[in-house]
Amino acid sequence: MNKRAIVLGVLDRIGFLRLWRSRASDRLLVVNYHRILDGAANNPFDDGVVTCTPDVLDAQLEMLTRYRTIVSMHDFVASLEGGPALPPRPTLITFDDGYADNFEIAFPILKKYSAPACFYLPAKRLQERELEWWDHIACAVKRADTGVRSVEFGGLTIDTQLDSAEGQRAATDELIGIAKETGADVESLYGQLNAERPDKSVESGQIMTDEQVREILAEPGFAIGAHSVSHAVLTTLDDDGQAFELRESRRFLEARFDVPVRTFAYPVGDDAHYNDVSRRMARSAGYACAFNFRRAARDVRVDELKPFDIDRICAPRRADAIFAARASGFFAI
Ligand SMILES: [Zn+2]
Repeated sequence: MNKRAIVLGVLDRIGFLRLWRSRASDRLLVVNYHRILDGAANNPFDDGVVTCTPDVLDAQLEMLTRYRTIVSMHDFVASLEGGPALPPRPTLITFDDGYADNFEIAFPILKKYSAPACFYLPAKRLQERELEWWDHIACAVKRADTGVRSVEFGGLTIDTQLDSAEGQRAATDELIGIAKETGADVESLYGQLNAERPDKSVESGQIMTDEQVREILAEPGFAIGAHSVSHAVLTTLDDDGQAFELRESRRFLEARFDVPVRTFAYPVGDDAHYNDVSRRMARSAGYACAFNFRRAARDVRVDELKPFDIDRICAPRRADAIFAARASGFFAI
């Protein structure tokens, strides 16, 4: 542990950070998680979407409930639409992509802290029970014939070195980077890498079931939001394609679960992955707001919120005193 973390740990324990909370009182913090998996879990898919372990989630929620006020997505949308103002230090907790661990592991921890979360679910994933491109890229690389020295992907030739975990990670990152920008078809990777495609049941088992979604929705304050139909990067689509992803994902979830769906999370969500067309079409599809997932995301003053560009920060891998200091407002986020 470095000196800064030790000092902050002491400040946290003696209650100093709690005194500091007023500084963050008018700032909305939106925290995002993807998968929650134990480090020892044998994950055949993308480790890059594992945000943290169950213990870390537990510790982060303890800090967030100590320093901030976690609000439900319903209350947040109501405030955006002229309802009651948000409490001081408002915080939203969000999960993307509808992994089964969100229900099996995260949901019980969220309930323990009375921390209602919003789960962003890609429609096609729930319907077809198939994982998307990043998990297939990672799986194909993990199962690859280590002797394969190059693959063709997105019109490029990628040199690979697959005989070490680092080499596999580097290849996965490079291929995922190309897929984000080009929407390249990942199915050919299984053949090129001589890798066995996972069983349908293994793939399906990673995804929340409808019953699990209904159980989440039965818990007060918990919500679901739309995350497109196919999880395509919106800026790789033409205007009609964007309109379809925004409109149909909302319609799908509302019909399937009989709840209003008022919020959207842009797939991938950095600056290059959505644009003015996305914002305009999100508004006309009936959403009250939409969340991004920018690398440069910050907490934002509530009176400066732009409803179709709301920053979400990626929860860190650890729950240390630095996270506590950020949550308290002692450090800027
Ligand atoms: Zn996503």
